[in-house]
Amino acid sequence: MRDIAICGCGPAGLSAALFLHRAGHRVTLFERFSEPKPLGSGLMLQMTGLHVLERLGLREAIHARGHRVDRFVGRVVPSGRLVLDVRYNVLRGDQYALAVHRGALFEVLFNEVRRAGIALEANFELQTIDMISGGRGALVDSKGRRVGSFDLVVDALGSRSPTLPQFYRLRTESLDYGALWATLPMPPARFQPNTLEQRYQRASVMIGVLPVGRHGGVSEDQVTFFWSLRGRDFEAWRQAGLDAWKDRVRSLWPETDVLLNGISSAEQLVFARYSHHTLRQPYFGNVATIGDAAHSTSPQLGQGANMAMLDAAALADALTEHADMSHALAGYAKKRRLHIRLYQALSAAFTPFYQSNSRALPFVRDILVAPTMRMPFVSRLLASMVVGSWGLRMDRNGAPRV
Ligand SMILES: Cc1cc2nc3c(=O)[nH]c(=O)nc-3n(C[C@H](O)[C@H](O)[C@H](O)COP(=O)(O)OP(=O)(O)OC[C@H]3O[C@@H](n4cnc5c(N)ncnc54)[C@H](O)[C@@H]3O)c2cc1C
Repeated sequence: MRDIAICGCGPAGLSAALFLHRAGHRVTLFERFSEPKPLGSGLMLQMTGLHVLERLGLREAIHARGHRVDRFVGRVVPSGRLVLDVRYNVLRGDQYALAVHRGALFEVLFNEVRRAGIALEANFELQTIDMISGGRGALVDSKGRRVGSFDLVVDALGSRSPTLPQFYRLRTESLDYGALWATLPMPPARFQPNTLEQRYQRASVMIGVLPVGRHGGVSEDQVTFFWSLRGRDFEAWRQAGLDAWKDRVRSLWPETDVLLNGISSAEQLVFARYSHHTLRQPYFGNVATIGDAAHSTSPQLGQGANMAMLDAAALADALTEHADMSHALAGYAKKRRLHIRLYQALSAAFTPFYQSNSRALPFVRDILVAPTMRMPFVSRLLASMVVGSWGLRMDRNGAPRV
């Protein structure tokens, strides 16, 4: 049994806490918020992430809160021409994604953490990790409080983890484009069922509607609505006022009118900024880095939360397989290396086709690539990429071996 500190109550930290607690370790979670809580937006759980939740016995709980997605559809405006069509049913087995509100994933994992009686120190904003004798680590927070002496510290603090510059030489790229997100009641029969729908104008405009089910005692199904926006344009967007923006969205995609009517203040929209970095080796001494802290990117391929939970499962498995800590951490890194590198590279390559000021890339997307998507080989390739299975060993039923 090891004393393990897990910093961060996102999907990575909570799933790591559950796996490591069940493996018999003494686990304490640390979180900066006084009440752990998720911030805004919807996300897509792919078969990879769903498989991890199944291993944790949380399959039914998450399905009860999510909305099945069988297809992504992207059309250019104003022509309405289809330029992205990803169908899960071209793959073997019953493949789909489950779209959930971030709060639903948090609720399912956090309820289980509570039920398991895992210790939680809230209101603890980690600043540094002090390496002490024998490879053990102590946590120091922003008020100078110093806690513990842990065999292993797991950094699951997300893309802006304050400990990254302490341990790694890091090149973080802040991406130009982020997105405004709102969660709204699902309007009846306006959008295609079980589909993530997007509209593009070149790559500088991307609008999306994702049905995300319901959670937190809400009685009606919800959708998340997003609008791509450059970080540097956010202030100008606020100054211009909601009405000017709504008119622009309506003119591009009239069916969103019913959603826009539900937005009466800018506070209903959360602006998410994206950045990109990948750690070559996601551990230093007895500190393991998992989730967005180890590899953050734009959510264009919808893999981040899934990869975060895969990291948690791989770390716990490696600790079970190796008695020696340095071997276990090397084992964790090895299990995840190929998959992470592939998807980080794919995200970096694909994002500018959908979020950038380029004129050439959306032209290539719409005129050259779109027609190839109807070819069975290409559509299967695209679907398997979106499922998140590239670089993972899969079993006969198409489930990842994690
Ligand atoms: C708009 C948007 C849409 C997305 N869509 C998808 C999608 O469709 N599919 C998908 O798989 N992924 C998606 N992602 C990515 C996904 O949300 C992330 O990859 C995932 O949340 C990473 O989980 P994490 O636990 O590593 O980090 P986080 O979720 O960022 O959690 C970090 C936790 O650490 C806490 N924390 C941070 N700093 C400190 C500190 N100093 N001290 C103490 N606590 C701290 C935070 O409060 C938080 O609880 C999306 C992301 C965004 C922004």
